[in-house]
Amino acid sequence: MTQIPKESISLETLAPRTYLDRTKGNRPLSTPIIRGAIFAAPSSQEHARLYQSNAETFYHRFGHPGENELAKKVAALEDAESAIVFASGMATISTTLMAHLASGSHVISGDQIFAQTQELLEWLSNGRGVRVDFVDMRELDLVKAKMRSDTRIIYIETPSNPKLRITDIAAIAALAKEHGAMVVVDSTFATPMAQQPLKLGASIVLHSATKFIAGHMDVMGGVVAGPRRLIEPVYRMKRLLGGILDPQAAWLILRGIKTLHVRAQHIFSTALQLARYLESAPAVRRVYYPHLESHGEFQVASRQMLAGGGVVSFTLNGDIDVHRAFLDALQLVQIATSLGGVETVIEMPYDLDWYGLEAAPGQVFERTLIRLSVGLEHPQELIDDIEQALRSAVDRAVDAPGARE
Ligand SMILES: *Cc1c(COP(=O)(O)O)cnc(C)c1O
Repeated sequence: MTQIPKESISLETLAPRTYLDRTKGNRPLSTPIIRGAIFAAPSSQEHARLYQSNAETFYHRFGHPGENELAKKVAALEDAESAIVFASGMATISTTLMAHLASGSHVISGDQIFAQTQELLEWLSNGRGVRVDFVDMRELDLVKAKMRSDTRIIYIETPSNPKLRITDIAAIAALAKEHGAMVVVDSTFATPMAQQPLKLGASIVLHSATKFIAGHMDVMGGVVAGPRRLIEPVYRMKRLLGGILDPQAAWLILRGIKTLHVRAQHIFSTALQLARYLESAPAVRRVYYPHLESHGEFQVASRQMLAGGGVVSFTLNGDIDVHRAFLDALQLVQIATSLGGVETVIEMPYDLDWYGLEAAPGQVFERTLIRLSVGLEHPQELIDDIEQALRSAVDRAVDAPGARE
């Protein structure tokens, strides 16, 4: 029996399938968890062959069946030749950067990206031979002006965390190609269900699987996908840095990914409803959501994303205390970090990951910015909760001493 060509299968059908290749016969409909970290070989000759072929049944740091099953699934969802998985999003990002950068390399990075990615790039550029320019990726001319003969990587995060800025992946990819640079895209906020960067010309796509891909706030992981020639060096570096995914974690992420399509569909639809509601609420000052017409990069977002994602960021009219009072008054929505889970959570990013970070130019976002990660609850019940909390926060602000002065 021949394998169904991948291009003919929708993501909807790919996501829940345990084995993409059905030619291998009688296997459980859930990938077995193999705990044994070290495998015995029948002969020393075979032992040598297993090592030399990077077999998944040799030593867990070099790969194991759970990791490989997950990697295959992500490669299929991103329409990539190859993928590797890691213990976390940051293990993915650090290993990928270390694999592709050398002393003297130049990186152009978005100036509003995940805090720890920014910190890592700053660390690499701090006496470690890598030069990094943080640039507003929405301004193609700025990016073009920074390109140099030694520019190795253009690093973009779209939508960006937490400001939901959108970078035009195809435009950056065209620019990079002219100069022989790689484009690495952190697509965590979009998921493969909303955006497939490789199809837009990106060299490598990566995700924190901790977020939407696993989706249940009970496991951490990361994935990187792309052509074999760019993923192979990352595999070699992973063997050195050792950020492997535990078999139990790989299983949980595989379990989560089976419902990625339906979760994404529901969450993205609710997020758009909440974004529209927030935009209409008088207590709200600004809403950031890629598929709102008011978003600065709405045109690009509509072109490259099938949906706006599951995160909505916004600010309220009033000072920091009003914002805190709003969060504290929520009853259904929980105050917690991270995003992409089945439960709706909210946080104020400036207090957290970005706390105390030396800001790159343009990195700074509103001290009061609120980041809402939408879950699977009933959309109207979420709106009701937000509405009562807004009312309560506004009332408190009005009652506060000095509020009327
Ligand atoms: C959370 C996050 C990361 C880091 O992932 P971890 O799994 O927490 O290591 C990287 N990029 C983005 C956009 C994120 O939101």
